[in-house]
Amino acid sequence: NYFRNDFKKTLLNVHEDRDALPRRSIQKSILVTGGAGFLGSHLCELLLSAGHEVICLDNFSTGLRRNIAPLKRYDTFRVIAHDIVDPIDLEVDEIYNLACPASPPHYQADPIQTTKTCVIGSLNLLDLAARRGARIFQASTSEIYGDPQVHPQVESYWGNVNSFGPRSCYDEGKRCAETLFFDYQKVHGVETKIVRIFNTYGPRMRPDDGRVVSNFIVQALKGENITIYGDGSQTRSFCFVDDLIDGFVRLMGSPASLTGPVNLGNPTEFTIGELADEVIRLTNSRSKIVRLPLPVDDPRQRRPDISLATKELGWRPKVNLAEGLAQTIRYFDGVLSRSTRENAE
Ligand code: NAD
Ligand code: UDP
Repeated sequence: NYFRNDFKKTLLNVHEDRDALPRRSIQKSILVTGGAGFLGSHLCELLLSAGHEVICLDNFSTGLRRNIAPLKRYDTFRVIAHDIVDPIDLEVDEIYNLACPASPPHYQADPIQTTKTCVIGSLNLLDLAARRGARIFQASTSEIYGDPQVHPQVESYWGNVNSFGPRSCYDEGKRCAETLFFDYQKVHGVETKIVRIFNTYGPRMRPDDGRVVSNFIVQALKGENITIYGDGSQTRSFCFVDDLIDGFVRLMGSPASLTGPVNLGNPTEFTIGELADEVIRLTNSRSKIVRLPLPVDDPRQRRPDISLATKELGWRPKVNLAEGLAQTIRYFDGVLSRSTRENAE
């Protein structure tokens, strides 16, 4: 269990404050799409531990059954194998829409399916929210800002996005999803919440996820070359998963008037070269750094301005990069040792 008890307390407090009802009557039926993925499985775990009924819906394209296997111990947990591109009807009070591949190699592998997931998937879930009177949360992204010309990125910045490059299926899909969320709120009165997530890492990422933190850790632990794309001077700001999920439930439990978009991420910025050095230091690895070509449209710099989240949600990240990486390294060490043992048997 990666959650500390104070996260559970936060969740209960946020919901209790909102409804001012006794603990017993605040139980909700909550749909988490993409619930078998990296972020989704942590969110399901937190909601279940707070006593809610959770329906995890996933097409298992990048999600893993092993991420949610331990959650089967809750009799309030249900899993539905389904693709959000197809409509669905369920009785729910709240919806967290996390379904969508997040790693560039994964979302680019089938770009049309990625756009469909963002756009048609969001439409289907917004229809469900409108039908059931459910509050709905969208996992949007810092990619809304594209390769940003404003730094750090504030929610009021409109972004700098290519409409037909390799990242566009994701960036434009997520931008259109934000438009749909706002229009369902205006036209149908649906209660919507949008969070723009900045690079988040932690246990339960796939070893073959392809994003930078998991790539570097797996390479370092295996003693393979560490692959820096470009000269490593591009920057990202890395948020540990526990901090992010705490922000999710704070936003979902906030007054209806706070629709977002709200940036959530860790505002401490690192170059990719610095990240590689830190991973090598923490793993004591003998891996060498190699340089590979920089992918097309790779954003040069990224750092969230989190003033809005701090002011409205009382949220700020607590876990620094070294602590978060140490926990993530322990997780991958366990996964890699298990797979080595299984291969030997
Ligand atoms: P992930 O790939 O681990 O999880 C995505 C989950 O969605 C997987 O379980 C996958 O099987 C499922 N899925 C994909 N398409 C689906 C579909 N059409 N129908 C049903 N299920 C589908 O990625 P993650 O890092 O956990 O990201 C979760 C969400 O957060 C995504 O929407 C992503 O865009 C967003 N996000 C994440 C980050 C981050 O740094 N982790 C940053 C910005 C935004
Ligand atoms: N990156 C890298 N080596 C890798 C994977 C990624 O240097 O093995 C770089 C990538 O080019 C980008 C940054 O790390 O500049 C973050 O990439 P990631 O795919 O994690 O997320 P995103 O680009 O979506 O922020």
